[in-house]
Amino acid sequence: ALMTTDYDTIAAISTPPGVGGISIVRLSGSEALNIARRIYRGKDLARVATDTINYGHIIDPQADHREIDEVMVSVMRAPKTYTCEDVIEINCHGGLQVTNQILQLVLRNGARLAEPGEFTKRAFLNGRIDLSQSEAVMDLIEAKTDAARKAALNQLDGNLSVVIKKLRQEIVDVLANVEVNIDYPEYDGAEEVTTQLMLERATAIKEKIANLLKTAQQGKVLRDGLNTAIVGRPNVGKSSLLNRLLHEEKAIVTDVPGTTRDTLDEYVNVAGVPLHLIDTAGIHTTTDKVEQIGVDRSRAAIQQADLVLLVLNASEPLTDSDQELLDATAETNRIILLNKTDLPQQLTAADLPQDEKTAIIKTSAVTTDGTQALENVIAKMFFTDGITRNQTDVMVTNARHISLLQQALDSLTTVIDGLQAGLPVDIAQIDLQNAWEQLGEITGDNYDEELMDQLFEQFCIGK
Ligand code: GDP
Ligand code: ZN
Repeated sequence: ALMTTDYDTIAAISTPPGVGGISIVRLSGSEALNIARRIYRGKDLARVATDTINYGHIIDPQADHREIDEVMVSVMRAPKTYTCEDVIEINCHGGLQVTNQILQLVLRNGARLAEPGEFTKRAFLNGRIDLSQSEAVMDLIEAKTDAARKAALNQLDGNLSVVIKKLRQEIVDVLANVEVNIDYPEYDGAEEVTTQLMLERATAIKEKIANLLKTAQQGKVLRDGLNTAIVGRPNVGKSSLLNRLLHEEKAIVTDVPGTTRDTLDEYVNVAGVPLHLIDTAGIHTTTDKVEQIGVDRSRAAIQQADLVLLVLNASEPLTDSDQELLDATAETNRIILLNKTDLPQQLTAADLPQDEKTAIIKTSAVTTDGTQALENVIAKMFFTDGITRNQTDVMVTNARHISLLQQALDSLTTVIDGLQAGLPVDIAQIDLQNAWEQLGEITGDNYDEELMDQLFEQFCIGK
């Protein structure tokens, strides 16, 4: 059952700033209904059923009941609401003046301005969702790709939480078993049995955590995109390639205003892999008289890249600049695109380095040859197991979770190493307990106020 603490009533504009068809002022808390009643003329909101939307007017009780706006008011009663508290949503006309006046009015009549993420924080504090699910709400809002949206929704459903809770339970079971054996030291061989059992269980748990961490690389890419640089000297066909990727996929996603990050990034979805394109402005340096500037700029992009698409003009022999770029990308995962293969060829794969980190593809912007091959190579590079993951598979995408899983893994390694070196069980016990706590921080079963505040501050206001 949910135990709702009586926090003060908060309010915020939950729709993005600016002018729109409608805006929503949201309230949550035990006074939400009373505050709404004070400033609303229409049916008595105390008597309407929960989960109803009600037509009426917002009036200013302190200024002769003058009308502010014509509205629809949603009434959602605790506990089955987003926050587990009484929630009121005032759908008003979406002008800046109207929306702000209604917000001011609810604040004057007993509500407090919500902090960023505070509605979601309430859902956490009231026990409806755990910490990893709260973080999923933010990831869902910020998802830039369909894959990231799916991963966030999966986490919001609590699939990661279930896995973490199971692991913690397994640790508790081991600890309980150890306790029992320690309590009966007269039993012959208790110490050995305990050590053996602890070693076996700790190894099994460690392996599960390691498997979870294996999903992190993919998870991080799904969430943030694979940092990709398209480089090559002027006129080799970089823009043409970019246009093909962007237009054929029709999947550019730019950041939505109102979310916490406000950089304008370009994403393109290639075979299910979100590529985060680095410095697309730098691609258009074709008119630069000094070719070196383009090469220097490329170098900077290569530094940040997880993947480089190096474009070469196959209708010309390799130049010094080409060679410089080949050298600069030698350590990076790269796909070399031998472009303009519709023209007589002066450069072939045989002239290029062959190694594990390099794939070579012949392309042509004229015939569009090679696009499919490029997609296949990117998919193969990314989905190393060759299959797209199941929607219900748990994937770790969040840097905080990854770090905590790593810590728990390290604690288990210490347990295992210690036992194998003959350390007493009660020392190993401490590290096992650490692992239990570290896992608990993921779901927020163990949390501290400061961490919580930091987490929720990253949300936008009104969520
Ligand atoms: P960038 O400077 O590397 O961005 O090169 P662009 O994409 O702007 O292309 C430079 C010129 O080469 C343009 O006139 C393109 O139409 C042409 N071009 C690009 N790719 C190909 C190709 O595969 N075949 C041929 N024949 N021309 C191409
Ligand atoms: Zn260009």
